[in-house]
Amino acid sequence: MSEIERVKAAAREHRARTIIGAGGGKVLDTARAAADGLRLPVVNCPTVASSDAPCSALSVIYTDEGVFQEYRIYGKNPDLILVDTHVIAQSPPRLLVAGMGDALATWFEAKTCVEGNVKNMRGGASTESALALAELCYRTLLNDGADARRALEMKVVTPALERLVEANTLLSGLGFESSGLAAAHAVHNGLTAAAATHPYFHGEKVAYGALVQLVLEGKPRPLLSEVMEFSSEVGLPVTLGQIGLGELAAEELTRIATRATAQGETIHNEPFEVSPEMVADAIRAADAAGRAWRRKDR
Ligand SMILES: [Zn+2]
Repeated sequence: MSEIERVKAAAREHRARTIIGAGGGKVLDTARAAADGLRLPVVNCPTVASSDAPCSALSVIYTDEGVFQEYRIYGKNPDLILVDTHVIAQSPPRLLVAGMGDALATWFEAKTCVEGNVKNMRGGASTESALALAELCYRTLLNDGADARRALEMKVVTPALERLVEANTLLSGLGFESSGLAAAHAVHNGLTAAAATHPYFHGEKVAYGALVQLVLEGKPRPLLSEVMEFSSEVGLPVTLGQIGLGELAAEELTRIATRATAQGETIHNEPFEVSPEMVADAIRAADAAGRAWRRKDR
């Protein structure tokens, strides 16, 4: 909130006619919030493909300490989203991979919302086309994720990178906003209550949240394996230790699970009632599955 107010004051001082956000997710979220407050057009230029923030009409607000606070929903999406893949190719591979983590959850969360017939992020109904885009997002990750990561390591632009950037930025953005979020993002929000996870990116925690959602929903083993294989290949976390929670005390886990199931959280879009205990169990079970997977991997 303090950063949004600072940008608004600077824009007023310069009599700005347009707000242009260039950078990562928090920068773009701040630009959108400032533009909404001042009723100005907003242009988003992501310099990393680290989340699905660029296309959305909402901002995720964190406290100055980095704890999730709220979603702020706006009346319109950005006026222009400009992505130059030559710029993305210069960004750290870990950020692109984090974007894959955010995009990994999109299809699973969208499908859960549509099957449960719940409202999307705008309070409306999902559409077949939104769901198809969310599925295309997941398929693109599986097909192009690893190659796109290698392209970034070489700082080159390839068709795989172009498609992957589209998935991380556009498909994931349209998918989550038009179909909805479920357990994966709520678990992410819960994880932000543990300070040890703060050095890890939004998408890295969402990727772990996606795994927790699949466990919570009792999804079949082959799907879990597919997700863990993809995550391991591109470098997304499948265990608690990979997001700073190798030693997770019971009280900390309770705090995470309680935050994940707070009133108004998207975890309540799941088609069954979700208690903090169920989330805590799924967080532990996903970690056990991930550790077993990594042992086999080696
Ligand atoms: Zn996200």
